[in-house]
Amino acid sequence: MMRPLIYDLDQTDLSQHLESWGQPAYRARQIWRGLYQNFWVRPEEFTNLPAALRLKLEEEFSFEALSPITILESSDGRTTKTLFRLKDEQAIEAVLMRYDRRCTLCISTQVGCAMGCVFCATGQMGFHRHLTSGEIVAQVMYYARKLHAEGRSVTNVVVMGMGEPFHNYDNTMAAIDRLNDAEGYNFGARRFTVSTVGLVPMIRRFAEEKRQVNLAISLHAAEDALRLTMLPITKKYTVDEILASCDDYVRATGRRITFEWALIREVNDTPEQARLLAGKLKGLLCHVNAIPLNPTQGFSGQATTRERAEAFKEILNAAGIPCTIRLRRGIDIQAGCGQLASRAQG
Ligand code: SAH
Ligand code: SF4
Repeated sequence: MMRPLIYDLDQTDLSQHLESWGQPAYRARQIWRGLYQNFWVRPEEFTNLPAALRLKLEEEFSFEALSPITILESSDGRTTKTLFRLKDEQAIEAVLMRYDRRCTLCISTQVGCAMGCVFCATGQMGFHRHLTSGEIVAQVMYYARKLHAEGRSVTNVVVMGMGEPFHNYDNTMAAIDRLNDAEGYNFGARRFTVSTVGLVPMIRRFAEEKRQVNLAISLHAAEDALRLTMLPITKKYTVDEILASCDDYVRATGRRITFEWALIREVNDTPEQARLLAGKLKGLLCHVNAIPLNPTQGFSGQATTRERAEAFKEILNAAGIPCTIRLRRGIDIQAGCGQLASRAQG
């Protein structure tokens, strides 16, 4: 039988294991600190424990959730993308973007994705499986350790890698809660951003839970007809239903919501779409993050041009909707969502 992954446990689970082995309660806290404050990844690193207990840990748990198989650095050295192999030989990726002061990490929640958005490399590979909470946590701890060695730390985590986090809601939230644990990694909830394609019931659940985590919605089109050609989920949840749930979210939490928009030339970067979007977002506490499309093999759409992106932004801004055009980072290492892993899976 496969040993349970240690990152799948929360502090209570770990305490219960230790108790069942007849260990004093403080041992669980020592292990927790070792994992989440010292970033230890092998039982032998736990020098604060007696040798017999280190051995027991080794026998009972797996510490290796992911092994890096390919590491790509962008030409400017600031973006690192890692392709990891999971225990069952599946592959996922996580990307680190270093800025002057911030270090933003982009993590995955599933192998592949069931949502089938046509422009997305992950969508093009189909759904393989959900990640466990521990596999999500382990991506953050891998980079936390790496950055620690550079004298830096992760400052923001965006859940925008492979997969749809609201399709794997429980494991994603369990991972966030575990990383948030004050006696462990203590990563502030406000430093997470979860991005969803717009699963309305889950947006509502997220709103009810009143989490401090930031929410982003991948909208990409302001009306159903156009959105349907790119995001099949539109059959299930219309643009207006998504926006109504966003409105309720903002009301319930008082938090600003972000809309993501991949600008595709002559498709959704038109003045008409910008005006339609501005009309629909009027009065909502929100922000639009537009990013030129990252071209993928399975989709013929092109990235917008600088001029068209500027014009799109101007229309929104003039209507009082804040909009920023984000720069593409790591384009030379296929840092777009799922681009490396979809290649690895062939
Ligand atoms: N499934 C979630 C989170 C992962 S995708 C979601 O869809 O929101 C993260 C973001 O990358 C989404 O906004 C998605 O629409 C966008 N994206 C996917 N493929 C892209 C591409 N080829 N170019 C630009 N953005 C892309
Ligand atoms: Fe899935 Fe998000 Fe890609 Fe759509 S854009 S296929 S929801 S990962």
